[in-house]
Amino acid sequence: MTLKNKKIICVLLGGLTCFSLLAWVIVWEINQAGDLEVVFFDIGQGDSIFIETPDGFQVLIDGGPGLVVLEKLGEEMPFYDRTIDLVILTHPEHDHMFGLLEVLKRYEIKNILWTGIIRDTAEWKEWKRLIEEEGANIIISEAGQKIVLSENIYLSILYPFESLEGQETKYTNDTSIVAELIFNNVSFLFTGDISKKIEKQLVDEYIDLESDILKIAHHGSKTSSCLEFLEVVSPELVVISVGENRWGHPHPETLANLEKFGIQVLTTRNYGDIKIVSNGNSFNIK
Ligand SMILES: [Zn+2]
Repeated sequence: MTLKNKKIICVLLGGLTCFSLLAWVIVWEINQAGDLEVVFFDIGQGDSIFIETPDGFQVLIDGGPGLVVLEKLGEEMPFYDRTIDLVILTHPEHDHMFGLLEVLKRYEIKNILWTGIIRDTAEWKEWKRLIEEEGANIIISEAGQKIVLSENIYLSILYPFESLEGQETKYTNDTSIVAELIFNNVSFLFTGDISKKIEKQLVDEYIDLESDILKIAHHGSKTSSCLEFLEVVSPELVVISVGENRWGHPHPETLANLEKFGIQVLTTRNYGDIKIVSNGNSFNIK
């Protein structure tokens, strides 16, 4: 065998070894994800939630107030995966939007769901520029939309009741997208930063709001989580996404109300990242 042929064989063998290693890593990743995973990232005072279905459909709801979301995504996603299937911006406030700006720059986003409301802030302008550049499919949220993530797993949009695209508003909390994630018998309710006023409207609008896990609105503020809403949703578990803050979130009154209903409460400030894993019949907290 000539030296040249030996070199070719060595390169081929090396390539094959790399390929089988990569295939093994991919198979391992798929096997690791047999369940639906929902991770409430500990990103400080804000919201950022990562969802991955058993067959690998990935959703990021909000990005938190800083760049910590990038580290968190790095922990949940394999290094070779630079694509996120769906990014949701509940409302364009700093503590939900800022981290997403960097995510848009670093990841390829296939779909973006947001309200389309207009704000006069530099961050909003940057968001608008980046989503236009991204080339993703843009969806303007509206109640009644059903977004299928995987077989038997979908997001049901409950609020805003109608499209808010092009509307200008300073008080954006009450424009937050409210969505329910349903996997067979298990459901999660994500409420952004809505106030009691919108919670009451949801109670009036929907016959069935019952959910197993509730991401409580507005970081546990006392302006949210009215008793009627908690009673109707009747969650087994409440997650409060909260960091150090000057507003006293979560408010003692909210915590007392949750205790009244005997609901288990986890805060990201006390527990760090909260990962909930479900097979569609039950769920476990990791
Ligand atoms: Zn917020």
